[in-house]
Amino acid sequence: MADQINSLPLTSICAALAQALAIPAPAQAEKGDRALIDLVRHRTSEGRADRVFMYNPDAIGMWLYQKYTRLFDPVVRHTQLPLPLCSVMPSVTPVCFGSLYTGAQPQVHGIRSYQKPVIRIDTLFDAVIRSGKKAAIVCDPESSIGNIFLEREMDYFAYKSMEDITKKALELIDRDEHDLIVVYHKNYDSTMHKNGTEAEASLTALKENIRDFDVFASAIRDKWQHHDTLIGFAMDHGCHDIDGGCGSHGLDMPEDLNIIHFYGVYPKTK
Ligand SMILES: [Zn+2]
Repeated sequence: MADQINSLPLTSICAALAQALAIPAPAQAEKGDRALIDLVRHRTSEGRADRVFMYNPDAIGMWLYQKYTRLFDPVVRHTQLPLPLCSVMPSVTPVCFGSLYTGAQPQVHGIRSYQKPVIRIDTLFDAVIRSGKKAAIVCDPESSIGNIFLEREMDYFAYKSMEDITKKALELIDRDEHDLIVVYHKNYDSTMHKNGTEAEASLTALKENIRDFDVFASAIRDKWQHHDTLIGFAMDHGCHDIDGGCGSHGLDMPEDLNIIHFYGVYPKTK
């Protein structure tokens, strides 16, 4: 059992997010996850979400949740659906986020190694824009997310520091202008590559991710009471330790492929 790979594919999220917003899925997206679709259908006031907020922390493997479960309590409090997923190969950032937001396998979306070209196939962002809705990405300018989804009619906010990214995301929640907001933080990935997956600095980074999700979800709960909002805590891939006290990912192994997303709904109350 230790070598078990999760059965639900990462590629099943994209179409479910589109269906949550009641818009057609991106052209090549695989079938949407039924439990995520049902969550939105049953927990929103009208059976669909008019806001989706995706928080994307980098490289938080499912085994971290299994080993440090209590650290994730704030994530669990804001969500109702934990979704164990199998990421895609190679389990590196642009390949995985490419699959998350196209719903397609790497050979279909075209990024099959650690490169950050603009994805040319249909994405969730294109589907949102076609439906007359507004999307925004808040991230590091050098990040995969900050590059592979460029050249769309949407808002891009790029900052070097985690704090500035968090601040802008909170500002966007305040402004309440975007139907889809994607926020990316690379801090855990950076520290675990440098110091190892369970070094103090890495666990601090993990706690920062959970803290910021708590801050975002609380702000949405308090400020978006006139919206049905789907929120997601959704990483790209996992990680494992290698020689020299460093961490890594990219391999076909449970530590790198098994991830667990958390989804929740804050329904309209006004
Ligand atoms: Zn990554």
